Amino acid sequence: MITEAHCIQLDQNDELAHLRQQFALPPQTIYLDGNSLGAQPHAALEQAQHIIRQEWGTDLIKSWNQAGWFNRPLSIGNELAPLIGAHPNEVAVTDSTSVNLFKGAAAALHMQRSQNATAQRRVIVTERSNFPTDIYILEGLKHFLNDGYELRLVDHPEHIHQAIDTDVALVVLTHVNYRTGYMLDMAAISAHAHQQGALILWDLCHSAGAVPIDLHAAQADLAIGCTYKYLNGGPGSPAFIWVPEKHQAQFTQPLTGWWAHQSPFEMQPSFQDSGDIRAALCGTQPIISLSLVSSGLAVFKQTSMAKIRTKSLALTDLFIQLIEERCADHPLHLETPREHAQRGSQVSIAHPHGYAVIQALIERGVIGDYREPHIMRFGFTPLYTSFQDVWQAVAILKDVLDNQKYDTNLEKNAVT
Ligand SMILES: *Cc1c(COP(=O)(O)O)cnc(C)c1O
Repeated sequence: MITEAHCIQLDQNDELAHLRQQFALPPQTIYLDGNSLGAQPHAALEQAQHIIRQEWGTDLIKSWNQAGWFNRPLSIGNELAPLIGAHPNEVAVTDSTSVNLFKGAAAALHMQRSQNATAQRRVIVTERSNFPTDIYILEGLKHFLNDGYELRLVDHPEHIHQAIDTDVALVVLTHVNYRTGYMLDMAAISAHAHQQGALILWDLCHSAGAVPIDLHAAQADLAIGCTYKYLNGGPGSPAFIWVPEKHQAQFTQPLTGWWAHQSPFEMQPSFQDSGDIRAALCGTQPIISLSLVSSGLAVFKQTSMAKIRTKSLALTDLFIQLIEERCADHPLHLETPREHAQRGSQVSIAHPHGYAVIQALIERGVIGDYREPHIMRFGFTPLYTSFQDVWQAVAILKDVLDNQKYDTNLEKNAVT
């Protein structure tokens, strides 16, 4: 049986433990929701003050050049690139994940049509269990193009390979599933998509900053993802889009705003594509929010994704083992794969009263969240989650379950 003393020992031997002090975490709180909204790096507050006081307050319009505001979507993209196996000048931090998916998917379909003018590929493959906005955006794009496209929704990760055949134009998959934490084999699926002549776009929302990613090694075509989850960029911080050099000359997306223009300040009356990563931009960005992404990324520079992954698996293994040892007589069902190669950095557990139980945990300072149906989600963020946090979270869960300290009549909040 695992003891609390053992967990404390694990913290003492943890070489990432010192990074926790770089985050603002409220007292008496075990924060297991960094997969939904990352914690605030202390540096973000200082950076926000600097931007508001100095760059905006004092330097005003000069900051577009002087402080590098204009180039910031690309300079922060370069800071993010190493975390996903991208090269310099291949990543833009801009817009939302939903908008970037629209741009990326539209660009991919366009590339397919220009490369194979005669081919009648009209199928877009994704998973039915994908995050809903991904499916909605693809549905919207399909209706908008009105050109015979159809969505093929796969019902189980093991059926993805057979769903990708020579009718497929584009595959859009989320690397780590938001609800179950199931991680797909990016390299194997990308290779299969290419064999069938399809392009593949990866959504990295639940994997950027959570697991090691090598987009170039996997030979992916495009990728998108958000910065407010594991990357700790702040609520609603701009997302990213990756366009590898091999596709930049062909990449053209429908939101051809002036920031995607070859020379925006020549103010020409007609659009000329930049032909590089700027083609993924649209218009003026929320500079304050965009800038703070940098504070989140700065913490990652002090360690490596390999070390983060090792600790992440140790945390999720510990959580699963403690739940199985200590809460065995309750109707809990593990939704996350035990197989390390198939697990992101979260553990999802179903309980018939999942919503009521998660609310009882939140009241007691253990912050997880809830996703339909019945699933309690717990995110583990090695930069600031300790092994003792895991012990305490399970101790509180056990108390809530053993003593039925949850209210099954609760009305659900707008955000669960
Ligand atoms: C969080 C998440 C999103 C969020 O999209 P927004 O445009 O930022 O609201 C999209 N896709 C996936 C897979 C996600 O996990």
